[in-house]
Amino acid sequence: MNTDKKPEMIPSFQVDHTRIVPGIYESRLDTLGSEFATTFDIRMKKPNAEPAIHPNAMHTIEHVVATFLRNDDEWKDRIIYWGPMGCLTGCYLIVKGHPAPEEIHPLMVRAFEHMAEYDDVVPGATPENCGNYILHDLNMARYEARLFLDCIKNRPCFAYPTAERITTEKGMTFFDS
Ligand SMILES: [Zn+2]
Repeated sequence: MNTDKKPEMIPSFQVDHTRIVPGIYESRLDTLGSEFATTFDIRMKKPNAEPAIHPNAMHTIEHVVATFLRNDDEWKDRIIYWGPMGCLTGCYLIVKGHPAPEEIHPLMVRAFEHMAEYDDVVPGATPENCGNYILHDLNMARYEARLFLDCIKNRPCFAYPTAERITTEKGMTFFDS
C-alpha cells in the first residue's frame, strides 16, 4: 500500500478522453484530516468510440457490485462508495487509504466475475429500496461484465493517457472533475 504518498505528489494532468481505454485508474486523491480517500475510475468502455452501457444494465451493475464490495472480507471496511458515471462508460470506486490501481485489480476481477455469473434476484430492486426499481437488466449487466473481465484479465491498463490542461481566456485552469 502506498500510504507514504503525499497528495501534493499527484501529477496535475488532465485525462485525454479521446485516448482512454477500459481499465482501472486513480482518478483523484483526497485527504480527510490525516486520512486519504482514493477515487478510482473503473472505465468499462472507450469514451465516445463505442456504445456506452445501457442505463438499465448500469443500474443492475451498481446494485450487484455494490452489494458484493460491501460483503468482501478483504475490502468491505475500506469501501466508501461505488456508483456509475453519468456518461455511462464506467463506475467510480472510492476507498479509504491510498492503494494503487494494481491492488484494486484483484478486487475488480472478483467483483465482475460475481456480476458475470450472477443469476438471482437483483439485490435491493424493490420499491422500498430503490428509486427506480424497474430500471434493471440483469442479462445485459452480465454481458457487460464479461466484456470488462476480458479487458482487465487480458489487457489490464492502469495508467491514464495525459494531455495538457487547458487554460481559459481569463487564465483559469480547466478541471473536468
Ligand atoms: Zn437502484
